Amino acid sequence: MVDSPNGDGAFCLNHEPSTANYQLKMRAMIFEKPGQLLRAADVSKPKPGTNEVLIQVRACAVCRTDLHVVDGELPKPKLPLVPGHEVVGVIVEKGRGVQRLKIGDRVGIPWLGWTCGECEFCRSERENLCDRARFTGYTLDGGYAEFTVADERFCFPIPDVYSDVEAAPLLCAGLIGYRSLIKTGDAQRLGIYGFGAAAHIIAQVAKYQRREIFAFTRHGDSEAQSFAKSLGAVWAGDSETTPPQQLDAAIVFAPVGELVPLALKAVARGGTVVCGGIHMSDIPSFPYDLLWEERSVCSVANLTRRDGEEFFALAPKIPVRTTVQTFPLAEANEALSRLRSGELQGAAVLVP
Ligand SMILES: [Zn+2]
Ligand SMILES: [Zn+2]
Repeated sequence: MVDSPNGDGAFCLNHEPSTANYQLKMRAMIFEKPGQLLRAADVSKPKPGTNEVLIQVRACAVCRTDLHVVDGELPKPKLPLVPGHEVVGVIVEKGRGVQRLKIGDRVGIPWLGWTCGECEFCRSERENLCDRARFTGYTLDGGYAEFTVADERFCFPIPDVYSDVEAAPLLCAGLIGYRSLIKTGDAQRLGIYGFGAAAHIIAQVAKYQRREIFAFTRHGDSEAQSFAKSLGAVWAGDSETTPPQQLDAAIVFAPVGELVPLALKAVARGGTVVCGGIHMSDIPSFPYDLLWEERSVCSVANLTRRDGEEFFALAPKIPVRTTVQTFPLAEANEALSRLRSGELQGAAVLVP
């Protein structure tokens, strides 16, 4: 038996299929060691704890953070681990304490899987910074599996207008993208560096809010640039290029530290550069001039449940549409490798 940190959602690794307890097993993609491919395995189906629901996974999007986990760039993951934190599924069983949700409900599970509710961050509406927070697909098992468990308090009902596959990328690319967008305040001219899953969602929200989007991509990535324009960007070009107008704010979604001074150069006096990723290569040193005149740099960590409630109320009104490429669960390694090489347009979604 391999215990997860909270004793919930534990699973057994088992290589020998047994017909007697077949229903107690599920297929999952398991992360065991950085640098190794995920391994397909039949493991014990998790049991929901007191406040948890058991969810039959219908779709799980692949996030860049999953790459940071499997590449060993994030410290101390649960091991072995089922990755995946953009999960959409249906509740098939629930713990004794579950009150809000019922069997048959379709819900989404985000990155923020549990908070303590007691620390100074939790008590000041900053649960994203909770001292003891647990994260889906990192310190808790996630959605690269046929089933997963989640604390009901951290699940979001999924608006009916979305299919399972379409909704999955909203759970992180959407939510953390939205939190990044909020951090830009009322910036009118908004730069977005790295036009992947988060950017393609947030560009639609920004356009709805009548902001102008300037999309920055890898050098010569004309496909991503035309994708950005198709989503309403007023300008798209290479990251090294100076945009035709000074920006009021910029969001850096790409995990590339070199982009931070470039973005600072592109923003006007008083402008903000928001770093939207959980991991980034080192930011090179830069002259103070780039920060002078009240420019600022900040990061976005995780999400709060309030971000989720706001975003899921807003997304269907716009309506935000997601561009997805589906892969069978067993091809999780292939989906990760395409994300790494930048071959995806929009988001990869695993379907069990
Ligand atoms: Zn806390
Ligand atoms: Zn994510």
